[in-house]
Amino acid sequence: MNNLAPSDKALVPFVSVDNMMKLVHHIGVEPMLIGLADYIEADFKRWELFDKTPRVASHSEEGVIELMPTSDGEVYGFKYVNGHPKNMKEGLQTVTAFGLLANVGNGYPVLLSEMTVLTALRTAATSAMVAKHLAPKGATTMAMIGNGAQSEFQSLAMKAICGVDTVRLYDVDPAATEKAARNLEGWGMNVVACKTAEDSMEGAQIITTCTADKQYATILTDNMIGAGVHINAIGGDCPGKTELHKDILSRSDVFVEYPPQTRIEGEIQQMADDFPVTEMWEVINGTAKGRTSDRQITLFDSVGFAIEDFSALRFVRDRIKGTERFIELDLLADPDDPRDLFGMLQRAAS
Ligand code: NAD
Repeated sequence: MNNLAPSDKALVPFVSVDNMMKLVHHIGVEPMLIGLADYIEADFKRWELFDKTPRVASHSEEGVIELMPTSDGEVYGFKYVNGHPKNMKEGLQTVTAFGLLANVGNGYPVLLSEMTVLTALRTAATSAMVAKHLAPKGATTMAMIGNGAQSEFQSLAMKAICGVDTVRLYDVDPAATEKAARNLEGWGMNVVACKTAEDSMEGAQIITTCTADKQYATILTDNMIGAGVHINAIGGDCPGKTELHKDILSRSDVFVEYPPQTRIEGEIQQMADDFPVTEMWEVINGTAKGRTSDRQITLFDSVGFAIEDFSALRFVRDRIKGTERFIELDLLADPDDPRDLFGMLQRAAS
């Protein structure tokens, strides 16, 4: 794979939060979202060759900590990510993450990176890449319900990748809507702050739900959803945490990343185990149908899958080459004589 050969040094490139932000500004937010979407789409096209498993989740009363591994046979990757809806009220992020790529040939890591900012970018790039395939042609308006950390990224990805020019914001907390509206000023979108979820959906062809609450919430009820829309459901991503009334699922064609994970974590956890879904990689490859009519409701039941993180890390690894946007970490003990690990430790005493 391009640019993912092992380093001949044991030092591991590390992209800190500070360097990630510099990299994003160096590339530009919208070009980076477009670049990430291209990498994610390329990996969806070769979906079958990846190792796949539902993420390994450790649940508690307050939230979840998850590991998300995958490999394409040449490169292995994983992300550590948490989801703690109560964090925001304590001044902490709901979602934080970091991730790693390693060379399958010798097992040595080749990249360690912050992934809190990168996850927001990759989630938005995935949403927009999927909407490009499923949303009604010429969609210009998106309802953005839940105006927290992910919301501006979601809005800008839909602009950059799908041509959406208007975003209608709604959050139970008006301060979140004010924050998102302020942040989106000057990005070339019409931004409308709305007082109810119903109001935010006025004229919207794309409806994004991105709320955080560790419960079976009902952000959208069936009567709110008209024919022909695309729903991008981001926030329901863990057992016992959903956003849509199940009647909406019955009326929609549901598209997912990896069914064994989505059946545990997604909106479809409310449905029977054999509830029909379409895998998004098949739509992208042309082996399954996406949108087939103007009146069809398409629903992307997004939970976030390891391959998207792998693609994002691959993008970062390619883009930091030849830049100063990383430092090298002394992460691996690597004695000149591989069998003399103890000798290396002893010599360090002197
Ligand atoms: P956040 O805590 O920063 O924001 C969530 C917002 O939702 C808050 O502003 C809150 O006031 C609002 N909210 C809660 N209940 C609401 C309701 N009933 N109606 C309207 N707004 C409501 O969280 P975030 O980082 O933006 O993440 C949002 C959700 O997306 C989380 O549940 C997270 O787990 C999920 N997520 C999914 C993916 C994925 O790949 N699918 C990736 C990242 C995050």
